[in-house]
Amino acid sequence: DLGAIQDNYRRLRALAAGAEMAGVVKADAYGLGAEPVARALSDAGCRQFFVAQLEEALTLRSTLPEAAIYLLNGSPSAAMTEIERAGLIPVLNHPGELAAYAAYASGRGRALPGALQIDTGMCRLGFSRREVEQVEPTQLGALTLVLVMSHLACAEERDHPMNGAQRARFEELKATLPAVPASLANSSGIFLGPDFHYQLCR
Ligand SMILES: *Cc1c(COP(=O)(O)O)cnc(C)c1O
Repeated sequence: DLGAIQDNYRRLRALAAGAEMAGVVKADAYGLGAEPVARALSDAGCRQFFVAQLEEALTLRSTLPEAAIYLLNGSPSAAMTEIERAGLIPVLNHPGELAAYAAYASGRGRALPGALQIDTGMCRLGFSRREVEQVEPTQLGALTLVLVMSHLACAEERDHPMNGAQRARFEELKATLPAVPASLANSSGIFLGPDFHYQLCR
């Protein structure tokens, strides 16, 4: 029901007034069909999208030529040319990925866009505290960092102590990085209140 999806999109956007609302359409939009869902969200005003795989991102690019498309799986070395050509934004999940993408951008003589994921307790993906502290300014300088993000582990449980702990860690770690838009909340995170909304919700 694409109308219901658009309606939900508008409700969430109203709930997080002031923040941008991205559409996450990975796994074929959770099995609903990435193309029709992305078009419907775009018609409702959505300009930023997240997918997991390069193939999904390339298909989405042909559907939405103008949208910002984030690639959660980062920038596999073999894919960098395609990432650049399709104008995708890889989410860089570890130092090796940052180094390789920065080197590629330098080689191309272009400050390619990237997002940096920091691990605030999910212990799955992202730069650890130590890795954030060791990020080299020259690597960041080779890129245009457009987003710093992290993922909440227990946002479905409103009162879970992990939520506040992850938010505190996020504040602390992103302060050591360049001031760029930040994103912490997935769908459930939006309901945790304005402190969790930052500039972009997912
Ligand atoms: C899947 C995913 C989302 C969306 O999660 P929901 O719980 O479905 O809202 C947001 N951010 C990232 C990094 C994800 O992988």
